[in-house]
Amino acid sequence: MTSIVSKLPQVGTTIFTTMSALSAEVGAINLSQGFPDYNCSPELIELVNKAMKDGHNQYAPMAGVKALRDEIAYKTKKLYGADYDPDTEITVTAGGTQAIFTAITAVINPNDEVIVFEPAFDCYAPAIKLAGGVVKSLELEPGNNYRIDWTMVKKLINNRTKLIILNSPHNPTATILHQEDIDELSAIVKDQDILILSDEVYEHLIYDGEIHHSMARYTELQQRSFIVASFGKLLHATGWKIGYCLAPAYLMQEFRKVHQFLVFSVNSAMQQAIAEYLKDENIYLNLPAFFQEKRDHFRKGLAETKFELLPSYGSYFQSVRYGHLTNANEADTDFALRLTKEAGVACIPTSVFYTQGTDHKVLRFCFAKRQETLDDAVNRLIDFKL
Ligand code: GLN
Repeated sequence: MTSIVSKLPQVGTTIFTTMSALSAEVGAINLSQGFPDYNCSPELIELVNKAMKDGHNQYAPMAGVKALRDEIAYKTKKLYGADYDPDTEITVTAGGTQAIFTAITAVINPNDEVIVFEPAFDCYAPAIKLAGGVVKSLELEPGNNYRIDWTMVKKLINNRTKLIILNSPHNPTATILHQEDIDELSAIVKDQDILILSDEVYEHLIYDGEIHHSMARYTELQQRSFIVASFGKLLHATGWKIGYCLAPAYLMQEFRKVHQFLVFSVNSAMQQAIAEYLKDENIYLNLPAFFQEKRDHFRKGLAETKFELLPSYGSYFQSVRYGHLTNANEADTDFALRLTKEAGVACIPTSVFYTQGTDHKVLRFCFAKRQETLDDAVNRLIDFKL
């Protein structure tokens, strides 16, 4: 065998793949990987069929179907008041993860430092490392609701700092950025040569009337930001792997240089269909209420279990603490396996989202499920003998 030097020696199979596979193997209810267990709209599927029948089966333009980029520009203006030029500032991607990888690859040079808040979604660090960058992580804790301590951020910044990665609503913690965070961030990056990568894939899943603090709302921040969004979450079709990136033209130009050689362009029929479907603004305007109902229902059920609930302000997720329930100080990875096998409910242990494996005894459940699925899961958790 020819020898190779792994570029990612520490990386194994993602926790999402692992837990979904285990869940299927043992026949558990899968509340681990974040995806709906109900279908997307039949009307949308019809529109995809129609687009295929109408002959939209060849390469889309590299940046994406123009009609879709126009809809994205309209939605961004309507929701956040920002103007993005569909020709130079919007690119349709093969999902959020590809957009994140592409943005990082486009701007990170060897030894550039990237500030990442942990727990962090698992694709950030590998992308940074593959680009030769250095991850500077700042750990957040459930004890203070995973709030960012901006004085600590200031301490991490030096002249090698190139990028800060933000994620709101946040995966896995379900927290959101607040106005104070925006003010602190703005003050920190002002007059600094620092870019922002803002992972906003859960932008429409935000509850209790809170507003989504998109970077697009704040001109100073918007001018230095890649914003990543996901149609998978918006359309209940995570398997379609379609998302998009917004960025000012000088950043988007570099983004597209990478994008064109990574995927070239995203499948055309679905783009055509989504462009048509999104003309109905209610598709996205109704999402917060749709998911809040699920969150509220799930939380009400979980309140009957012995778990301690953490807040869920946004995203597909609800986290719980279990540390007070096990005498043996059981690791969250072990507890999650046991819960999957013995209770028949799969979840995600959150220590995997910390570089150091910091274990706060917190588990993440996905509530983007039918009510009967959530009820069934809650009943199993109530019955679970520790
Ligand atoms: N975003 C999904 C989650 O957090 C997983 C995506 C993936 O499996 N890569 O569960």
